[in-house]
Amino acid sequence: MRVLIWFRNDLRLHDHAPLHQAVRSNADVIPCYCFDPRQFGQTPFGFPKTGPFRAQFLLESVADLRQSLRGKQSDLILRQGHPETVLPELAQALKVETVYFNREVTAEEIEVENRLRSALADLGIECLRFWSSTLFHPEQLPFPIRELPEVFTQFRKQVEKSAKPKAPFPTPQSLSTLPDIAPGELPQLEDWGLSSPEPDARAMIQFSGGETAALARLQDYIWEQDRLKRYKETRNGMLQPNDSTKFSPWLALGCVSPRYIHQQVKTYEQDRVKNNSTYWLIFELIWRDYFRFICAKHGKRVFRVSGLQGLALPWQDNRETFEKWQTGQTGFPLIDANMRELAATGFMSNRGRQNVASFLTKNLGLNWQMGAEWFESCLIDYDVCSNWGNWNYAAGVGNDARGFRFFNIVKQAKDYDPQGDYVRHWLPELKDVPGGQVQTPWQLTALEQEMFGLTIGKDYPEPMVDLWQSAKVNEQIYNRVVNY
Ligand SMILES: Cc1cc2nc3c(=O)[nH]c(=O)nc-3n(C[C@H](O)[C@H](O)[C@H](O)COP(=O)(O)OP(=O)(O)OC[C@H]3O[C@@H](n4cnc5c(N)ncnc54)[C@H](O)[C@@H]3O)c2cc1C
Repeated sequence: MRVLIWFRNDLRLHDHAPLHQAVRSNADVIPCYCFDPRQFGQTPFGFPKTGPFRAQFLLESVADLRQSLRGKQSDLILRQGHPETVLPELAQALKVETVYFNREVTAEEIEVENRLRSALADLGIECLRFWSSTLFHPEQLPFPIRELPEVFTQFRKQVEKSAKPKAPFPTPQSLSTLPDIAPGELPQLEDWGLSSPEPDARAMIQFSGGETAALARLQDYIWEQDRLKRYKETRNGMLQPNDSTKFSPWLALGCVSPRYIHQQVKTYEQDRVKNNSTYWLIFELIWRDYFRFICAKHGKRVFRVSGLQGLALPWQDNRETFEKWQTGQTGFPLIDANMRELAATGFMSNRGRQNVASFLTKNLGLNWQMGAEWFESCLIDYDVCSNWGNWNYAAGVGNDARGFRFFNIVKQAKDYDPQGDYVRHWLPELKDVPGGQVQTPWQLTALEQEMFGLTIGKDYPEPMVDLWQSAKVNEQIYNRVVNY
């Protein structure tokens, strides 16, 4: 039997259900990846849908998969075009009996899947869909997806009580060689009108795409640096490479599977230590599962401005205000440092994301979709479900939302960057402002400004809003809509 395996956000050889199934049934495997031009267009608000950092990470990940397949006497066939057109042509030309692929759960991806399935059906080619993206397989959930709890804690408790993540599938030892076919070239960033992102020396970690780098990062973080045992205490840090795992970019493209991470955590617990931190990494992976299942349950609603709750809030879409947020010119150092880090590196910590999302929606009252699209464009770990699910949550239109909650940016800065090291790292104009004073530059006296060599309003902006006043206004708007 000849099977074509369509790789998508599952760019790995370990724990890959379609590959495992094909190898187990002694099929001749034809691995293929198709670069879909629609992923390189523009978002509705006009940002590049896949920005240069993420595009670069994708190219590296695909190149690494190809290298690994070549190491097993196979190859990765590369094509550019719409998968629903390219794959049936390829399958027909190679006399493939079945096409295997992993399912996705969101609108654009499902549409492509459906078109592909119908094009294959017209040719009499079978199509088998698998699931390899989460810690828990949907069949392990104690409820059907349509009855998924809307509150995360309820979901987590019920799942933890009734199921255990399964062991990952092994990496195949060997694969069949490919029939005579042009393997295709790896595209270049320029093909999509993008230029190579400049590496920024201030980045806390230089990410490189692919399963090889993913497994090396796990090995380093968990075993060499022995950081897992303190994960819970350090995970909110914004400055150091090992504050949190940084597994997300590889998880997003499937270069590493959550079940593989789970297995490593269990081994660590046996060999080294089992504590709150080791559990907490699994806890965070359950959040990841949750957003994926929530998206599967709610379909297109996660992308709508009214969100999963269907709340018709009167969001603003003032471009000028948005650009101050986007470029890190709000006058609030914690927000500005995070936004500049995102633009310069394609990454931002979870603490940073929570704060900038709260500021955009609860202080500026701007349409949260603009923020979500900007993240989609920039983040190298962009994951459709985690991104749009978290933005729904942050904007107060998602599941599990508890009224109008917002982050006190000044308190957050004091709690998570008390000496201001993170902020000074990204805001050169504030580099001479000492200690925690850097978090509230608007409080510097004229004399202090002179001493530290800056003028607020000239070298660094005045705060663009009053934190409390702006939150109060937006809270009133929110409450009016909710209580209507
Ligand atoms: C507005 C907003 C947008 C976000 N967009 C994305 C996104 O596009 N892609 C993405 O992977 N994460 C997203 N997150 C979640 C989280 O910020 C990142 O997963 C995390 O910062 C990645 O760093 P890490 O791997 O070091 O995390 P760690 O703290 O080491 O966590 C380990 C893993 O758990 C998962 N995880 C942790 N927190 C969350 C969470 N809140 N939601 C879902 N999964 C989580 C991730 O897979 C992460 O790699 C977003 C959060 C917010 C508030």
